Amino acid sequence: MENRDLLLFSPKTPIHIAGPCSVESAEQIEETAAFLSKFGVPVLRGGTFKARTFSSSFQGLGEEGILMLARAAHHNGMACVTEVMNEDQLAFALPHVDMVQVGARSMFNYPLLTAIGKAGIPVILKRGMGATIDEWLAASEYIATEGNPNIILCERGIRSFETATRFTLDVAAIPIARRRSVFPVIVDPSHAAGESSLVFPLARAAMAAGASGIMVEVHPDPLLALSDGKQSLDFQSFELLHRELTAVCNALESLK
Ligand code: PEP
Ligand code: MN
Repeated sequence: MENRDLLLFSPKTPIHIAGPCSVESAEQIEETAAFLSKFGVPVLRGGTFKARTFSSSFQGLGEEGILMLARAAHHNGMACVTEVMNEDQLAFALPHVDMVQVGARSMFNYPLLTAIGKAGIPVILKRGMGATIDEWLAASEYIATEGNPNIILCERGIRSFETATRFTLDVAAIPIARRRSVFPVIVDPSHAAGESSLVFPLARAAMAAGASGIMVEVHPDPLLALSDGKQSLDFQSFELLHRELTAVCNALESLK
């Protein structure tokens, strides 16, 4: 798949991965891809097999969703990523997507990590919400020892006693993981924040603390989203975040 060559990091944007929590329809993902591609976002995200807390919640469009995601991304010159939770989902996703995501709830799924290692596909490894930095980095070794070095570590907030945010973004994990690992570290402020207005300060903090990039949830109409609408940015907010993070990156450059 030619988009695999894009592998991730374009210096043109601090927001490397964006898109809805879930792929909901061909129109929704196409509209989002068309919008994000104008900002040079290299990777379109979209959940298709969803790891939801409640079994009664929207579980994703599955295989059909993967096809919609891949079509929208590739046709707009983007790469794409979706979460897989088991080996069957991985096998279906492999020929279509450019990257897979291991979600926070799957970070300890060692057979899945091994299978992704064998597959060799680029992978975003989210930190488990109850995982120490050492456990997270040890999980990355399961993938790497199978011969797959295309790993991106993603801090997405850990569980703490604090309930004002959905999770507690562990900003210190960014420099620590960078120091202890050879893999790039990105941050997902959306799942840590739990609400869209908090995505801005968390994303700015993440970049300032040394993250190589940001992954954010973006939806054409967050109020209608089938998952994580509260934390999703609408297009106007995305534009503002993009502007803010570009300024943060320029300020950081001037410190070098
Ligand atoms: C997601 O990216 O939509 C997701 C479910 O993330 P996490 O695994 O970090 O909760
Ligand atoms: Mn989500």
